[in-house]
Amino acid sequence: MSETVTRFAPSPTGRLHLGHAWSALQAHDLATARGGHFLLRIEDIDVTRSRPAHVSGIIEDLLWLGLDWEGEILFQSERTALYAMALEDLKARGLVYPCFCTRKDIAASASAPHGPDGLLYPGLCRDLPPDAARMAGTPHGWRLDMAKAIAAAGPLAWITGDGTAVRATPEIHGDVVLARKDAPVSYHLAVTVDDADQGITHVVRGADLYAATHVHRLLQHLLGLASPAYIHHPLIATVDGERLAKRNGAPDIAGLRDRGVDPARFMADLRAGRFPDGYRLMGG
Ligand code: GLU
Repeated sequence: MSETVTRFAPSPTGRLHLGHAWSALQAHDLATARGGHFLLRIEDIDVTRSRPAHVSGIIEDLLWLGLDWEGEILFQSERTALYAMALEDLKARGLVYPCFCTRKDIAASASAPHGPDGLLYPGLCRDLPPDAARMAGTPHGWRLDMAKAIAAAGPLAWITGDGTAVRATPEIHGDVVLARKDAPVSYHLAVTVDDADQGITHVVRGADLYAATHVHRLLQHLLGLASPAYIHHPLIATVDGERLAKRNGAPDIAGLRDRGVDPARFMADLRAGRFPDGYRLMGG
């Protein structure tokens, strides 16, 4: 059997909070329990929100928590050429199309139904005739032609941590963005390419990303990449059932350190399912 390889993949848009510690711990402990490898990837593709200061903060927080990773840190911002190659591959097969729409255009198309991440793209640019001049002169992103992609791939499933097969239903997302006007790649494409390149065998991440897995499974197939097992762990919530976020005062790791909290004790409590006062597992 191949060795277990997991990863923690934070976006450096702030310091780590309790929810991140919980997630990193799941991925770290699965790898260490199996004598495998725990890797770190910084998802800093969104240049408008990522900050180098948060990268060093995240590193400091993980080391303080005792969640050491192996090897070099992978930075998505250094890998844009690889994402572009993956996109070119899909372009060559006619599975993506340029999209010139603004958020406003999409919202104005009132009939758009909702998917897991908001309005489904109503397909305004899907069947536009090729227009090289417009492409050269107008900012545009690239969308996956979901119907074509599904037809090309056929039925797909992914495997959960216990080996259960889950049927992939990427159609619930509609024509997702794979490259944005303001960024060379979207989360879906970058994460799929990187999980394969890092040899991740088990993607351990929060239940909030469950729906995204449908898209990732499809992209893996289209790009000829291996498919890891997926373990979506329950999220920590406030006792009122609110998801943790900076804005609702989720305890941040740097703050715990400043207050003199003992990290070994804090982690032992989390591992035993004992959460700080005011927090519990969502759905638990
Ligand atoms: N970068 C994502 C986040 O911080 C996580 C991506 C993933 O685990 O697939 O929410």
